[in-house]
Amino acid sequence: MIVNIEKLSRKETERVDFKFCEEADSISCCDEIYKLASPVEVEGKISRNNKGLYINADVSFTVADKCSRCLETVDIPLEYNIQGFIVNEDDYTEDDYEDYDAFLIDGRSEVDIMDIIAQTIDFNMPHKVLCREDCKGLCPGCGANLNVEDCRCSEKINDEDNIDPRFAKLKELLKNE
Ligand SMILES: [Zn+2]
Ligand SMILES: [Zn+2]
Repeated sequence: MIVNIEKLSRKETERVDFKFCEEADSISCCDEIYKLASPVEVEGKISRNNKGLYINADVSFTVADKCSRCLETVDIPLEYNIQGFIVNEDDYTEDDYEDYDAFLIDGRSEVDIMDIIAQTIDFNMPHKVLCREDCKGLCPGCGANLNVEDCRCSEKINDEDNIDPRFAKLKELLKNE
């Protein structure tokens, strides 16, 4: 997803439009890896204003993550807008951009939109990943996925034939009556 910005940098044009659809297995940012369940689609523009180069793009793709309660894989469709300045690392000063989002790039000739998407995923992911609002999760005792099966904790006790001795005595008494 490389956008050539040479003409923008040389002030030969005011804006560059782009549109991509790219297949990828995952997107990684820092030490997070996001598995993808769909191609990444993006459409937008990079334009030049008095402060620098500004990107405005709409992205959509689906991340495959695990439900935080039952650990089943969940597809999370994401659709969001990216806006911010594109700044060469050497030119960046925090004061200049403190009121804006800024994406740092190295070099001045191209921008990899995938890098910018990678930097924005975390912020757009749901706070807590759930397969459904009322996911019952896993039983902490037997590990059963309570959405699809019953808890087996009580079964275990029966299997062991663990009858309380007091009940055994009561049983004896009833038998004798
Ligand atoms: Zn779940
Ligand atoms: Zn259980």
